[in-house]
Amino acid sequence: MGVLVIGRTIGRASDAANRQMAVVCSLSTRARHLHKGGMTPPPPLPTHAWPQMEPGWVWLCGAGPGDPGLLTLHAANALRQADVVIYDALVQEQILEWAPQAQHIYAGKRGGKPSAKQRDISLHLVELARAGKKVLRLKGGDPFVFGRGGEEAQTLVQHGIPIRIIPGISAGIGGLAYAGIPVTHRDVNQSVTFVTGHDQSGNTPGSLDWDSISKGSQVIVIYMGMKHIAQIADKLIDAGRSLHEPVAEVTTAPTDEQRVDETTLGTIFEDITEAGLAPPAIICVGQSVLMRQVLDWQSMAAGELPRNTDPLGRGRPAETA
Ligand code: SAH
Repeated sequence: MGVLVIGRTIGRASDAANRQMAVVCSLSTRARHLHKGGMTPPPPLPTHAWPQMEPGWVWLCGAGPGDPGLLTLHAANALRQADVVIYDALVQEQILEWAPQAQHIYAGKRGGKPSAKQRDISLHLVELARAGKKVLRLKGGDPFVFGRGGEEAQTLVQHGIPIRIIPGISAGIGGLAYAGIPVTHRDVNQSVTFVTGHDQSGNTPGSLDWDSISKGSQVIVIYMGMKHIAQIADKLIDAGRSLHEPVAEVTTAPTDEQRVDETTLGTIFEDITEAGLAPPAIICVGQSVLMRQVLDWQSMAAGELPRNTDPLGRGRPAETA
């Protein structure tokens, strides 16, 4: 009830679903070279003094949330030089085509499923670097946003491996932007809180003060929130957020499978269940979700009119001070 489903597509198809099924495989058995024929050659980089990858180094790099166009130029530079790319489940395999010279190793982990152990991944990076490889550790979004990039980087440093960090566009910002939701909007929020929906034990994070978050942050962006959304919504409502608070779930953004669902805090659990939504999804709670009614640029590009050019009911031009 109450779900408005507006799916939009962008980018090219991926086989993310297949990769998600393959998480049980160990690092070594998943190690493989992609077939070299028929690949798009890596696009040329603009002239610039790009950093050179040296043997024995590991670069931890964000791949952005999906659309390869959201890679940074530093990421493209790294992909062209790497001997080995170790990538996560959230990295679109299409991006690997930009590193046809490299060995591609899948190290996916999906919440709640058997997976490559974090420590094994980190130690594998150490091993590859010590073998003199130029190692690119590629992670979805930004490596330091709920990506355990800090832990991997720390392990590398502890083992004396030189590192470089390449930030990426996090799903909680870029995915929302593709859905037409500004993560901050002057009329709505002066703060935003990014939270994870589960902790190391797989439960709703006990260390989070949901009461403070609810009261202190007009907009809350939840990563990995699908599994515990009922408890999270209850905690926010108990802390005073309205049952009618707008919420958006942005699933698999921005890829061909992207979909955006709009609902409210009071009905989110039923709506997610009814729609059969599956991770990965970013959940955005707050009035900024309403801005999608005027900023859903993908629908507009497809010929639709904005649903409401003044969704916050300000009754004045947007730029009025
Ligand atoms: N480092 C990543 C986040 C990794 S945590 C980043 O900066 O984006 C994994 C969670 O991120 C997923 O459970 C989901 O909540 C979110 N996520 C990552 N990629 C996503 C995508 N393409 N679409 C929607 N949510 C995504």
